[in-house]
Amino acid sequence: MIYQRSSQLFAEAEKVIPGGVNSPVRAFRAVGGTPIFVKSAKGAYLYDEDGNRLIDYINSWGPMVLGHAYEPVVEAVIEKAKLGTSFGMPTELETQIASLAVSMVPNIDKIRFVNSGTEACMSAVRLARGFTKRDKIIKFAGCYHGHSDSFLIQAGSGAVTFGTPNSPGVTSGTAKDTLLASYNDLENVNTLIKANKNEIAAIIVEPVAGNMGCIPPAKGFLEGLRELCTANGILLIFDEVMTGFRLARGGVQELFNINADIVCFGKVIGGGLPVGAFAAREEIMNFLAPLGPVYQAGTLSGNPLAMAAGLAMLQALDNDREIFKRLEEKTAYLGAGIERVLKANNVVFTINSVGSMISVHFDANPVNDFKSAGAGDNETFKKFFHGLVAEGVYIAPSAYETWFITDALTYEDLDFTINAIDKVSKTF
Ligand SMILES: *Cc1c(COP(=O)(O)O)cnc(C)c1O
Repeated sequence: MIYQRSSQLFAEAEKVIPGGVNSPVRAFRAVGGTPIFVKSAKGAYLYDEDGNRLIDYINSWGPMVLGHAYEPVVEAVIEKAKLGTSFGMPTELETQIASLAVSMVPNIDKIRFVNSGTEACMSAVRLARGFTKRDKIIKFAGCYHGHSDSFLIQAGSGAVTFGTPNSPGVTSGTAKDTLLASYNDLENVNTLIKANKNEIAAIIVEPVAGNMGCIPPAKGFLEGLRELCTANGILLIFDEVMTGFRLARGGVQELFNINADIVCFGKVIGGGLPVGAFAAREEIMNFLAPLGPVYQAGTLSGNPLAMAAGLAMLQALDNDREIFKRLEEKTAYLGAGIERVLKANNVVFTINSVGSMISVHFDANPVNDFKSAGAGDNETFKKFFHGLVAEGVYIAPSAYETWFITDALTYEDLDFTINAIDKVSKTF
Protein backbone atom coordinates (compact mmCIF):
# COMPACT_ATOMS: atom_id res chain seq x y z
CA MET A 1 0.00 0.00 0.00
CA ILE A 2 1.09 3.56 -0.67
CA TYR A 3 0.77 6.41 1.83
CA GLN A 4 2.16 9.25 -0.24
CA ARG A 5 -0.80 11.59 -0.02
CA SER A 6 -1.43 10.83 3.68
CA SER A 7 2.21 11.73 4.41
CA GLN A 8 1.92 14.99 2.50
CA LEU A 9 -1.33 15.90 4.23
CA PHE A 10 0.19 15.12 7.61
CA ALA A 11 3.21 17.33 6.91
CA GLU A 12 0.85 20.21 6.06
CA ALA A 13 -1.30 19.54 9.12
CA GLU A 14 1.73 19.59 11.44
CA LYS A 15 2.43 23.21 10.46
CA VAL A 16 -0.89 24.48 11.77
CA ILE A 17 -2.21 21.84 14.20
CA PRO A 18 -0.15 20.66 17.22
CA GLY A 19 1.21 17.25 16.28
CA GLY A 20 -0.94 17.39 13.14
CA VAL A 21 -3.96 15.97 14.96
CA ASN A 22 -6.93 17.27 16.94
CA SER A 23 -6.81 14.39 19.41
CA PRO A 24 -3.49 12.78 20.43
CA VAL A 25 -4.61 9.15 20.01
CA ARG A 26 -4.83 9.75 16.26
CA ALA A 27 -1.07 10.29 16.03
CA PHE A 28 1.18 7.30 15.44
CA ARG A 29 3.57 8.18 18.27
CA ALA A 30 3.35 4.75 19.93
CA VAL A 31 3.88 2.76 16.72
CA GLY A 32 5.95 5.09 14.55
CA GLY A 33 5.12 6.34 11.07
CA THR A 34 2.53 8.93 10.09
CA PRO A 35 -1.26 8.88 10.49
CA ILE A 36 -3.46 7.72 7.64
CA PHE A 37 -5.80 10.44 6.35
CA VAL A 38 -9.33 9.27 5.67
CA LYS A 39 -11.32 10.36 2.66
CA SER A 40 -14.52 8.44 3.27
CA ALA A 41 -15.96 5.39 4.95
CA LYS A 42 -18.87 3.06 4.31
CA GLY A 43 -20.02 0.07 6.34
CA ALA A 44 -17.01 -1.83 7.68
CA TYR A 45 -14.47 -0.05 5.46
CA LEU A 46 -12.33 3.06 5.51
CA TYR A 47 -11.06 4.58 2.24
CA ASP A 48 -7.95 6.69 2.67
CA GLU A 49 -6.56 9.62 0.68
CA ASP A 50 -4.25 7.30 -1.30
CA GLY A 51 -7.12 5.08 -2.41
CA ASN A 52 -6.40 2.18 -0.02
CA ARG A 53 -9.27 0.24 1.56
CA LEU A 54 -8.97 -0.78 5.21
CA ILE A 55 -11.27 -2.94 7.33
CA ASP A 56 -11.95 -0.71 10.32
CA TYR A 57 -11.74 -1.94 13.92
CA ILE A 58 -11.69 1.53 15.52
CA ASN A 59 -15.00 2.76 14.18
CA SER A 60 -14.46 6.32 15.30
CA TRP A 61 -13.34 4.90 18.70
CA GLY A 62 -16.73 3.31 19.26
CA PRO A 63 -19.70 5.27 17.90
CA MET A 64 -20.20 3.45 14.59
CA VAL A 65 -21.69 0.28 16.04
CA LEU A 66 -23.73 -0.28 12.85
CA GLY A 67 -20.92 0.67 10.49
CA HIS A 68 -19.94 3.89 8.73
CA ALA A 69 -22.38 6.15 6.90
CA TYR A 70 -25.33 4.15 8.21
CA GLU A 71 -28.15 5.19 5.87
CA PRO A 72 -30.91 6.15 8.40
CA VAL A 73 -28.46 8.33 10.35
CA VAL A 74 -27.16 10.05 7.21
CA GLU A 75 -30.71 10.67 5.97
CA ALA A 76 -31.85 12.07 9.32
CA VAL A 77 -28.93 14.53 9.43
CA ILE A 78 -29.51 15.71 5.85
CA GLU A 79 -33.23 16.26 6.42
CA LYS A 80 -32.69 18.19 9.67
CA ALA A 81 -29.89 20.33 8.24
CA LYS A 82 -32.31 21.77 5.70
CA LEU A 83 -34.47 23.04 8.57
CA GLY A 84 -31.70 24.96 10.33
CA THR A 85 -28.64 23.72 12.17
CA SER A 86 -28.89 25.36 15.62
CA PHE A 87 -31.41 27.49 17.48
CA GLY A 88 -30.47 27.67 21.15
CA MET A 89 -34.16 26.99 21.81
CA PRO A 90 -35.94 23.73 22.67
CA THR A 91 -36.96 21.31 19.93
CA GLU A 92 -39.31 18.31 20.00
CA LEU A 93 -36.46 16.11 18.85
CA GLU A 94 -34.68 16.50 22.21
CA THR A 95 -37.68 15.05 24.05
CA GLN A 96 -37.94 12.21 21.54
CA ILE A 97 -34.36 11.03 22.00
CA ALA A 98 -34.52 11.61 25.78
CA SER A 99 -37.70 9.49 26.05
CA LEU A 100 -36.21 6.72 23.98
CA ALA A 101 -32.95 6.69 25.97
CA VAL A 102 -34.85 6.66 29.28
CA SER A 103 -36.97 3.74 28.02
CA MET A 104 -33.92 1.72 26.94
CA VAL A 105 -31.70 2.24 30.01
CA PRO A 106 -32.68 0.83 33.42
CA ASN A 107 -32.89 2.97 36.52
CA ILE A 108 -32.86 6.46 34.96
CA ASP A 109 -35.73 8.98 34.93
CA LYS A 110 -34.15 11.99 33.29
CA ILE A 111 -31.23 12.64 30.96
CA ARG A 112 -29.35 15.78 29.95
CA PHE A 113 -27.53 16.04 26.62
CA VAL A 114 -24.10 17.62 26.20
CA ASN A 115 -21.53 17.64 23.39
CA SER A 116 -18.97 15.01 24.40
CA GLY A 117 -18.20 12.20 26.80
CA THR A 118 -15.79 14.52 28.58
CA GLU A 119 -18.56 16.98 29.33
CA ALA A 120 -20.87 14.17 30.45
CA CYS A 121 -18.37 12.83 33.01
CA MET A 122 -17.28 16.27 34.19
CA SER A 123 -20.91 17.32 34.72
CA ALA A 124 -21.84 14.02 36.39
CA VAL A 125 -19.11 14.56 38.98
CA ARG A 126 -20.19 18.16 39.61
CA LEU A 127 -23.75 16.93 40.08
CA ALA A 128 -22.59 14.22 42.49
CA ARG A 129 -20.59 16.77 44.48
CA GLY A 130 -23.54 19.16 44.61
CA PHE A 131 -25.93 16.40 45.61
CA THR A 132 -23.75 14.90 48.36
CA LYS A 133 -22.12 18.19 49.44
CA ARG A 134 -18.75 16.39 49.42
CA ASP A 135 -15.61 17.16 47.38
CA LYS A 136 -13.58 14.00 46.74
CA ILE A 137 -13.99 11.34 44.11
CA ILE A 138 -12.43 7.93 43.57
CA LYS A 139 -11.32 6.93 40.09
CA PHE A 140 -9.45 3.85 38.92
CA ALA A 141 -5.99 3.78 37.37
CA GLY A 142 -6.30 3.13 33.65
CA CYS A 143 -9.91 4.29 33.41
CA TYR A 144 -10.48 7.26 31.10
CA HIS A 145 -13.30 9.70 31.72
CA GLY A 146 -12.41 12.41 29.23
CA HIS A 147 -9.84 15.18 29.51
CA SER A 148 -11.31 17.39 32.22
CA ASP A 149 -8.91 18.28 35.05
CA SER A 150 -10.22 15.95 37.79
CA PHE A 151 -9.76 12.88 35.63
CA LEU A 152 -6.28 13.36 34.20
CA ILE A 153 -4.70 11.22 36.85
CA GLN A 154 -3.51 7.88 35.46
CA ALA A 155 -6.09 8.20 32.75
CA GLY A 156 -5.59 5.19 30.51
CA SER A 157 -4.88 4.86 26.83
CA GLY A 158 -4.27 8.32 25.36
CA ALA A 159 -2.51 9.74 28.39
CA VAL A 160 -0.46 6.58 28.88
CA THR A 161 0.54 6.25 25.23
CA PHE A 162 2.01 9.74 25.41
CA GLY A 163 3.83 9.24 28.67
CA THR A 164 2.03 11.95 30.61
CA PRO A 165 -0.12 10.02 33.08
CA ASN A 166 -0.65 13.11 35.19
CA SER A 167 -0.96 16.15 32.95
CA PRO A 168 0.81 19.44 33.72
CA GLY A 169 -1.82 22.14 33.94
CA VAL A 170 -3.92 20.23 36.45
CA THR A 171 -3.51 22.12 39.72
CA SER A 172 -2.52 20.28 42.88
CA GLY A 173 -5.72 21.62 44.41
CA THR A 174 -7.77 19.75 41.85
CA ALA A 175 -5.60 16.63 41.90
CA LYS A 176 -5.90 16.24 45.68
CA ASP A 177 -9.66 15.68 45.37
CA THR A 178 -9.19 12.71 43.02
CA LEU A 179 -8.27 9.53 44.87
CA LEU A 180 -6.81 6.73 42.81
CA ALA A 181 -7.73 3.07 43.24
CA SER A 182 -6.69 0.04 41.25
CA TYR A 183 -9.27 -1.62 39.00
CA ASN A 184 -10.82 -4.85 40.26
CA ASP A 185 -9.43 -4.23 43.77
CA LEU A 186 -12.30 -3.73 46.24
CA GLU A 187 -10.02 -3.83 49.28
CA ASN A 188 -8.15 -0.83 47.91
CA VAL A 189 -11.43 1.08 47.48
CA ASN A 190 -12.55 0.17 50.98
CA THR A 191 -9.29 1.48 52.45
CA LEU A 192 -9.67 4.80 50.63
CA ILE A 193 -13.25 5.17 51.84
CA LYS A 194 -12.24 4.50 55.46
CA ALA A 195 -9.38 6.99 55.26
CA ASN A 196 -11.70 9.69 53.84
CA LYS A 197 -14.84 9.15 55.85
CA ASN A 198 -17.83 11.30 54.76
CA GLU A 199 -15.65 13.13 52.22
CA ILE A 200 -16.21 11.08 49.08
CA ALA A 201 -18.96 12.26 46.74
CA ALA A 202 -18.65 9.64 44.04
CA ILE A 203 -16.86 6.62 42.68
CA ILE A 204 -16.57 6.85 38.91
CA VAL A 205 -15.78 3.68 37.00
CA GLU A 206 -15.81 2.22 33.50
CA PRO A 207 -18.00 -0.78 34.42
CA VAL A 208 -16.29 -2.71 31.65
CA ALA A 209 -12.94 -0.98 31.18
CA GLY A 210 -12.05 -0.15 27.59
CA ASN A 211 -9.25 2.38 27.79
CA MET A 212 -6.46 0.02 28.89
CA GLY A 213 -7.48 -2.60 26.39
CA CYS A 214 -10.71 -4.33 27.29
CA ILE A 215 -10.80 -5.40 30.93
CA PRO A 216 -13.92 -7.07 32.30
CA PRO A 217 -14.92 -6.38 35.90
CA ALA A 218 -13.88 -9.28 38.15
CA LYS A 219 -16.70 -11.31 39.65
CA GLY A 220 -18.19 -9.30 42.51
CA PHE A 221 -16.28 -6.08 41.74
CA LEU A 222 -19.23 -3.97 40.56
CA GLU A 223 -21.54 -5.52 43.19
CA GLY A 224 -18.94 -4.64 45.83
CA LEU A 225 -18.69 -1.03 44.61
CA ARG A 226 -22.49 -0.79 44.74
CA GLU A 227 -22.55 -2.02 48.33
CA LEU A 228 -19.70 0.25 49.47
CA CYS A 229 -21.39 3.26 47.86
CA THR A 230 -24.78 2.54 49.40
CA ALA A 231 -23.27 1.95 52.83
CA ASN A 232 -21.26 5.18 52.77
CA GLY A 233 -23.59 7.69 51.09
CA ILE A 234 -21.41 7.75 47.98
CA LEU A 235 -22.88 8.02 44.46
CA LEU A 236 -21.79 5.33 42.03
CA ILE A 237 -21.15 6.76 38.55
CA PHE A 238 -20.99 4.31 35.67
CA ASP A 239 -19.07 5.90 32.82
CA GLU A 240 -20.82 4.10 29.96
CA VAL A 241 -19.50 6.43 27.27
CA MET A 242 -17.93 3.39 25.60
CA THR A 243 -20.24 0.60 26.76
CA GLY A 244 -23.61 2.36 26.60
CA PHE A 245 -25.83 1.18 23.71
CA ARG A 246 -22.95 -1.13 22.72
CA LEU A 247 -22.84 -4.03 25.18
CA ALA A 248 -26.60 -4.17 25.69
CA ARG A 249 -29.69 -2.04 25.05
CA GLY A 250 -29.43 -0.74 28.60
CA GLY A 251 -25.63 -0.90 28.87
CA VAL A 252 -23.70 -2.55 31.69
CA GLN A 253 -26.45 -1.81 34.23
CA GLU A 254 -28.62 -4.23 32.23
CA LEU A 255 -25.83 -6.65 31.27
CA PHE A 256 -24.78 -7.36 34.87
CA ASN A 257 -28.00 -6.25 36.56
CA ILE A 258 -26.37 -3.61 38.77
CA ASN A 259 -27.76 -0.13 39.33
CA ALA A 260 -25.55 2.93 39.19
CA ASP A 261 -26.65 6.30 40.58
CA ILE A 262 -25.52 8.38 37.61
CA VAL A 263 -24.73 7.05 34.12
CA CYS A 264 -22.62 8.85 31.50
CA PHE A 265 -23.02 8.35 27.77
CA GLY A 266 -21.20 9.41 24.60
CA LYS A 267 -20.00 7.74 21.41
CA VAL A 268 -22.89 5.48 20.21
CA ILE A 269 -25.59 7.82 21.58
CA GLY A 270 -24.57 10.45 19.03
CA GLY A 271 -24.53 8.15 16.00
CA GLY A 272 -21.19 9.68 14.99
CA LEU A 273 -22.00 13.31 15.80
CA PRO A 274 -20.61 15.12 18.87
CA VAL A 275 -22.97 14.05 21.67
CA GLY A 276 -22.66 13.09 25.31
CA ALA A 277 -25.28 12.73 28.02
CA PHE A 278 -25.67 11.98 31.70
CA ALA A 279 -28.68 10.51 33.39
CA ALA A 280 -29.98 9.50 36.82
CA ARG A 281 -33.06 9.12 38.94
CA GLU A 282 -35.30 12.17 39.23
CA GLU A 283 -34.19 13.22 42.73
CA ILE A 284 -30.59 13.52 41.54
CA MET A 285 -31.27 15.08 38.11
CA ASN A 286 -33.56 17.71 39.68
CA PHE A 287 -30.47 19.12 41.38
CA LEU A 288 -29.43 20.54 37.99
CA ALA A 289 -30.12 24.11 36.88
CA PRO A 290 -32.69 25.47 36.18
CA LEU A 291 -34.51 23.25 38.73
CA GLY A 292 -31.67 22.96 41.21
CA PRO A 293 -28.44 24.70 42.24
CA VAL A 294 -25.86 22.74 40.21
CA TYR A 295 -25.02 24.72 37.09
CA GLN A 296 -24.47 23.07 33.73
CA ALA A 297 -25.14 24.48 30.26
CA GLY A 298 -24.20 24.41 26.55
CA THR A 299 -24.83 26.62 23.51
CA LEU A 300 -24.91 23.62 21.19
CA SER A 301 -26.25 21.05 23.67
CA GLY A 302 -29.18 19.16 22.14
CA ASN A 303 -28.16 20.40 18.70
CA PRO A 304 -30.75 19.28 16.12
CA LEU A 305 -28.29 17.54 13.78
CA ALA A 306 -26.65 15.70 16.65
CA MET A 307 -30.02 14.72 18.16
CA ALA A 308 -31.31 13.55 14.76
CA ALA A 309 -28.26 11.32 14.32
CA GLY A 310 -28.50 9.99 17.87
CA LEU A 311 -32.23 9.33 17.61
CA ALA A 312 -31.85 7.43 14.32
CA MET A 313 -29.08 5.35 15.90
CA LEU A 314 -30.99 4.54 19.08
CA GLN A 315 -34.13 3.71 17.08
CA ALA A 316 -32.16 1.29 14.92
CA LEU A 317 -30.74 -0.42 18.04
CA ASP A 318 -34.13 -0.42 19.78
CA ASN A 319 -35.87 -1.99 16.79
CA ASP A 320 -33.35 -4.79 16.27
CA ARG A 321 -33.61 -7.16 19.24
CA GLU A 322 -30.92 -9.46 17.83
CA ILE A 323 -28.27 -6.77 17.35
CA PHE A 324 -26.27 -7.23 20.55
CA LYS A 325 -26.35 -11.02 20.22
CA ARG A 326 -25.13 -10.74 16.62
CA LEU A 327 -22.30 -8.39 17.62
CA GLU A 328 -21.23 -10.75 20.39
CA GLU A 329 -21.23 -13.75 18.02
CA LYS A 330 -19.08 -11.91 15.49
CA THR A 331 -16.66 -10.87 18.23
CA ALA A 332 -16.46 -14.42 19.59
CA TYR A 333 -15.77 -15.72 16.07
CA LEU A 334 -12.99 -13.20 15.56
CA GLY A 335 -11.53 -13.89 19.01
CA ALA A 336 -11.49 -17.66 18.44
CA GLY A 337 -9.86 -17.17 15.03
CA ILE A 338 -7.16 -14.89 16.40
CA GLU A 339 -6.47 -17.33 19.23
CA ARG A 340 -6.14 -20.19 16.73
CA VAL A 341 -3.60 -18.48 14.48
CA LEU A 342 -1.54 -16.88 17.26
CA LYS A 343 -1.24 -20.25 19.00
CA ALA A 344 -0.27 -21.94 15.73
CA ASN A 345 2.48 -19.34 15.30
CA ASN A 346 3.73 -19.69 18.90
CA VAL A 347 2.91 -16.10 19.86
CA VAL A 348 2.50 -15.27 23.56
CA PHE A 349 -0.81 -13.47 24.05
CA THR A 350 -3.93 -12.84 26.11
CA ILE A 351 -7.28 -11.95 24.56
CA ASN A 352 -9.89 -10.06 26.59
CA SER A 353 -13.41 -9.57 25.35
CA VAL A 354 -16.88 -8.50 26.48
CA GLY A 355 -19.72 -8.23 23.95
CA SER A 356 -18.43 -6.29 20.94
CA MET A 357 -15.26 -5.08 22.66
CA ILE A 358 -12.07 -7.11 22.28
CA SER A 359 -8.36 -6.56 22.86
CA VAL A 360 -5.24 -8.55 22.09
CA HIS A 361 -2.35 -8.25 24.57
CA PHE A 362 1.11 -9.62 23.82
CA ASP A 363 1.63 -11.03 27.28
CA ALA A 364 0.91 -14.49 28.72
CA ASN A 365 -0.45 -13.31 32.07
CA PRO A 366 -4.07 -12.34 32.74
CA VAL A 367 -4.75 -8.66 32.01
CA ASN A 368 -7.08 -7.42 34.74
CA ASP A 369 -5.85 -4.00 35.81
CA PHE A 370 -3.74 -1.08 34.68
CA LYS A 371 -0.47 -2.66 35.74
CA SER A 372 -1.01 -5.92 33.87
CA ALA A 373 -2.32 -3.98 30.85
CA GLY A 374 1.03 -2.22 30.65
CA ALA A 375 3.06 -5.43 30.73
CA GLY A 376 2.50 -6.36 27.06
CA ASP A 377 5.34 -6.43 24.55
CA ASN A 378 5.15 -3.13 22.66
CA GLU A 379 7.76 -4.11 20.04
CA THR A 380 5.55 -7.02 18.99
CA PHE A 381 2.54 -4.71 18.96
CA LYS A 382 4.31 -2.29 16.59
CA LYS A 383 5.03 -5.09 14.12
CA PHE A 384 1.47 -6.33 14.51
CA PHE A 385 -0.02 -2.89 13.85
CA HIS A 386 2.06 -2.03 10.77
CA GLY A 387 1.74 -5.57 9.42
CA LEU A 388 -2.05 -5.41 9.66
CA VAL A 389 -2.24 -2.01 8.01
CA ALA A 390 -0.17 -3.37 5.11
CA GLU A 391 -2.73 -6.19 4.81
CA GLY A 392 -5.65 -3.75 4.79
CA VAL A 393 -6.79 -4.08 8.41
CA TYR A 394 -6.89 -1.02 10.66
CA ILE A 395 -6.68 -1.26 14.46
CA ALA A 396 -5.89 1.54 16.93
CA PRO A 397 -2.25 2.69 16.83
CA SER A 398 -1.70 1.84 20.49
CA ALA A 399 -1.49 -1.40 22.47
CA TYR A 400 -3.76 0.11 25.13
CA GLU A 401 -6.84 0.32 22.93
CA THR A 402 -9.90 -1.86 22.52
CA TRP A 403 -11.12 -2.98 19.09
CA PHE A 404 -14.76 -2.25 18.31
CA ILE A 405 -16.79 -4.74 16.31
CA THR A 406 -19.50 -3.30 14.09
CA ASP A 407 -22.54 -5.04 12.68
CA ALA A 408 -21.37 -4.05 9.19
CA LEU A 409 -18.52 -6.59 9.42
CA THR A 410 -19.29 -9.77 7.49
CA TYR A 411 -17.88 -13.20 8.32
CA GLU A 412 -15.81 -12.80 5.15
CA ASP A 413 -14.28 -9.64 6.62
CA LEU A 414 -13.57 -11.49 9.86
CA ASP A 415 -11.91 -14.38 7.97
CA PHE A 416 -9.87 -11.88 5.97
CA THR A 417 -8.73 -10.33 9.27
CA ILE A 418 -7.85 -13.68 10.84
CA ASN A 419 -5.82 -14.62 7.75
CA ALA A 420 -4.03 -11.27 7.87
CA ILE A 421 -3.17 -11.86 11.54
CA ASP A 422 -1.91 -15.34 10.67
CA LYS A 423 0.36 -13.91 7.98
CA VAL A 424 1.64 -11.03 10.14
CA SER A 425 2.26 -13.11 13.26
CA LYS A 426 4.53 -15.44 11.23
CA THR A 427 6.92 -12.49 10.88
CA PHE A 428 7.27 -11.73 14.65
C1 LIG B 1 -14.26 8.23 24.98
C2 LIG B 1 -14.52 8.20 26.42
C3 LIG B 1 -14.75 9.36 27.16
C4 LIG B 1 -14.58 10.74 26.59
O1 LIG B 1 -15.49 11.03 25.58
P1 LIG B 1 -15.16 12.21 24.53
O2 LIG B 1 -16.40 12.28 23.70
O3 LIG B 1 -13.94 11.79 23.80
O4 LIG B 1 -14.96 13.45 25.33
C5 LIG B 1 -15.11 9.23 28.49
N1 LIG B 1 -15.24 8.03 29.05
C6 LIG B 1 -15.02 6.88 28.39
C7 LIG B 1 -15.20 5.57 29.07
C8 LIG B 1 -14.64 6.93 27.05
O5 LIG B 1 -14.37 5.79 26.41
